[in-house]
Amino acid sequence: MSAARAPEVAAAPEPLENVPLAPRCTMGVGGAARFFVEAPDEPAVLAAYRWATERGVPLYVLGGGSNVVVADEGIEGLVVRIALHGVSSRETTGAIEVTAAAGEPWDPLVARAVDNGWAGLECLSGIPGLVGATPIQNVGAYGQEVSQTVTAVRALDRRTGEIVALGAADCGFGYRDSRFKSGEPDRFVVLAVTYRLKPWGVPAVRYADVERDLARRGVTTPTLGDVRQSVLDIRRSKSMVLDPEDPNRRSCGSFFLNPVVDAAALARVEREAGDPAMPRWPEAGGRIKLSAAWLIERAGFRRSEGPGPVTLSTRHSLAIVCREGARAADVAAFAREIRARVESRFGLRLTPEPVFWGSLSLDG
Ligand SMILES: Cc1cc2nc3c(=O)[nH]c(=O)nc-3n(C[C@H](O)[C@H](O)[C@H](O)COP(=O)(O)OP(=O)(O)OC[C@H]3O[C@@H](n4cnc5c(N)ncnc54)[C@H](O)[C@@H]3O)c2cc1C
Repeated sequence: MSAARAPEVAAAPEPLENVPLAPRCTMGVGGAARFFVEAPDEPAVLAAYRWATERGVPLYVLGGGSNVVVADEGIEGLVVRIALHGVSSRETTGAIEVTAAAGEPWDPLVARAVDNGWAGLECLSGIPGLVGATPIQNVGAYGQEVSQTVTAVRALDRRTGEIVALGAADCGFGYRDSRFKSGEPDRFVVLAVTYRLKPWGVPAVRYADVERDLARRGVTTPTLGDVRQSVLDIRRSKSMVLDPEDPNRRSCGSFFLNPVVDAAALARVEREAGDPAMPRWPEAGGRIKLSAAWLIERAGFRRSEGPGPVTLSTRHSLAIVCREGARAADVAAFAREIRARVESRFGLRLTPEPVFWGSLSLDG
């Protein structure tokens, strides 16, 4: 980690008060931010940080709100909405390094890389949210995750107030995890991310779903664009892209992580499941990844069902979807019920994927 030049600090923009967060989060539930400010550039992020620090007010960082569930009572703190823009690229030996500001929407960046023939992000097509959040949970899908391409993260270190440059090794990336998410969750505000991509690169085809879709379309030598198209089509069929017309649109995507277990736990789950066809994927170190969606279904939950205004998606049993009148408390109660039934059936405790803000917790 090295210090980088800090931008001039602008006069602190006066935060707004009592700003509803539900319209800024894809689940569309939760209360208001006591204070709220939009940061269009780095000086504004620094100003917001100083404003909060001087007043002893907790600082929350909001991107596209696609992985956050806000408590119904709202947030007693300053929410800074990241709106920094700009993308640049430079050629290095055998690679293109693309640097995007944290407020850039993610999917247009993927589309741009694909259009330019730069490989490395194509399987991450259609994931909602902004660039700055991609290192937070090491976003991934269909066999790719950003840890495979991130080379640098520019961030505000809230411990020192300095702007720092983090290398990939500083980020502590893991499966849907990083130093930013579980290691030191309140320490860094991501300002920009650099991805190292391959010009004229071959697309990654690592998932049977993608292979099947390409075969269905008669594509034998897929381009980056073909893989992007397949990923988008598959995601749309599972309501895993943001579509204002989709009745399943109010979700955080997958609500639970796929559990990664050792051989002993696998044997126990297999015994309980009594089904040799239970899906599983080998992971590093001899561990095995299981399908949370499959476990949820076998624990007795069915798509489209749930208590009142909160249900499982009609198209994916890993997504909790909010309907008219849903509250954050309903989401947490349903998630708690799912977790408890999976645990009592298989002895496995599911870990939620989204971040809870305010008083909300699955343990409360
Ligand atoms: C339909 C749907 C499908 C999805 N599919 C996938 C998928 O396939 N794979 C996957 O990995 N995820 C998926 N997600 C989850 C989500 O889209 C990603 O995690 C995304 O990266 C979140 O981006 P965001 O900007 O919305 O972050 P937010 O929801 O705003 O924030 C998420 C967390 O990151 C922190 N954060 C955000 N920006 C910054 C920043 N600049 N600096 C510091 N902290 C920050 C927030 O404080 C919060 O803790 C899906 C979500 C939905 C709704």
